[in-house]
Amino acid sequence: AKAKGSDRLEVYNRDVYQEFSRYFHVENDLRKAIDRGEFALYYQPQFCLDSGDVCGEEVLVRWKHPIEGTISPGEFISIAEETGLIIPIGEWILREACRQKAKWINEGYPKVPMSVNLSLKQFLQHNIVHTIEKILKETKLPPEYLDLEITESVTVDLDRTLDILNQLIKVGVRISLDDFGTGYSSLQYVGQLPVHELKIDQSFVKKIGKGKEGEAIISMIIHLGRSLELKVIAEGVETKEQLDFLQKQGCDLVQGYYYTKPLSTEEYEQYLRYKDLC
Ligand code: C2E
Ligand code: CA
Ligand code: CA
Ligand code: CA
Repeated sequence: AKAKGSDRLEVYNRDVYQEFSRYFHVENDLRKAIDRGEFALYYQPQFCLDSGDVCGEEVLVRWKHPIEGTISPGEFISIAEETGLIIPIGEWILREACRQKAKWINEGYPKVPMSVNLSLKQFLQHNIVHTIEKILKETKLPPEYLDLEITESVTVDLDRTLDILNQLIKVGVRISLDDFGTGYSSLQYVGQLPVHELKIDQSFVKKIGKGKEGEAIISMIIHLGRSLELKVIAEGVETKEQLDFLQKQGCDLVQGYYYTKPLSTEEYEQYLRYKDLC
């Protein structure tokens, strides 16, 4: 029994070691990734349901690791958060997104906002408003073309969050509440937060056609958005059935694989030109 126990301990230690060593390597590699130019921005269009036009696009980061290949944000954003590396990485993403958006506007691509995800630590960092103003100035992007996606996790520090949001609204950028409906406090705060848009989480969209539960929550969010005079967007739309339901309920915007997966800069430009969207 003793031998078994120590075997198990050894296995356990090896796992912990591998976990740790993987984490350590990721952290080490992440530190160098900005300077080595390994991050790439991908873009996914958002469509207005009434006009059918592209009414926005979301920026989604990818890490082109020289050995591991393309790493999705789900695998490194949380490590970047824990290590604080999200601050320089997030700033790089914001600058690159604003630079690209300003370029696209000059080149005649759709004059619609670009949505950038801000993680909690990045949003609550002491100088986020200053950083955003600096980047808008540097890239000459008019603020109305920048939309910041935050989640309700920002309500961990409600006073500070209200202060930051009010300053950002003064700067003139847009704010979307991402993953809406998944947190336990969504309803408690939605009326207090100065935001322009609610983004229905894809977990609810997945349930369309699979019973009343997900559908009821979606209609509730759409009605809530309408009474608060907020735009409502649904993400993760993959099927015609989901699209039809959202349209019937009066959702304003949609985004998802039904139209396209996130595309690289060149692919996205081609997509817009091919679809005659610019
Ligand atoms: P999110 O903000 O909720 O983004 C939506 C995710 O759903 C993206 O995954 C997107 O590629 C994916 N998606 C889009 N349409 C569909 C669809 O029709 N079906 C399905 N199944 N998925 C769809 P991605 O790009 O892997 O990003 C995952 C998460 O990583 C994001 O969730 C966001 O929280 C975070 N993230 C991505 N880019 C950034 C970034 O630049 N900064 C920060 N802080 N976080 C980011
Ligand atoms: Ca948006
Ligand atoms: Ca998002
Ligand atoms: Ca989401």
